[in-house]
Amino acid sequence: MEQTFIMIKPDGVQRGLVGEIIGRFEKKGFTLKGLKLITVDRHFAEQHYADLSAKPFFNGLVEYIISGPVAAMVWEGKNVVTTGRKIIGATNPAESAPGTIRGDYAIDIGRNVIHGSDSVESGKKEIALWFPEGIAEWRSSLHSWIY
Ligand code: ADP
Ligand code: MG
Repeated sequence: MEQTFIMIKPDGVQRGLVGEIIGRFEKKGFTLKGLKLITVDRHFAEQHYADLSAKPFFNGLVEYIISGPVAAMVWEGKNVVTTGRKIIGATNPAESAPGTIRGDYAIDIGRNVIHGSDSVESGKKEIALWFPEGIAEWRSSLHSWIY
């Protein structure tokens, strides 16, 4: 089953949006496979966003991500990478549709509340980076009601 890495950024944690965001993924039917509140250091944040290191906003982005605890999660389900990105909404909240997380809870591209992997491949890389200890195995009896 497909997995994705979802992170509630420091603004989302400080604003008390963790429960709301987890609820949206849960109610959709996805399965929470990993969850931890963690404050990462500069080196770690730079690794996570390595692909964006040449961007002019890179330093500000790293400062933002290390500014407080984030809620790091692994979610699992059919097409969870693509559907997760739809639930999250466009990168710039000014362009995120109402009903999406960024569309409902964010205004500024530099404080857009949540991260989601952009492909199955980057999801695997990000899960390995954020959950080197691995994630718990469990079988949900709910599956037959969702698939
Ligand atoms: P996404 O998070 O939607 O996958 P990107 O991977 O392109 O978007 O960018 C990663 C993060 O960098 C964004 O979520 C946002 O926090 C930040 N970011 C992107 N573009 C800008 C920008 N022009 N100015 C400030 N921050 C930005
Ligand atoms: Mg991205």
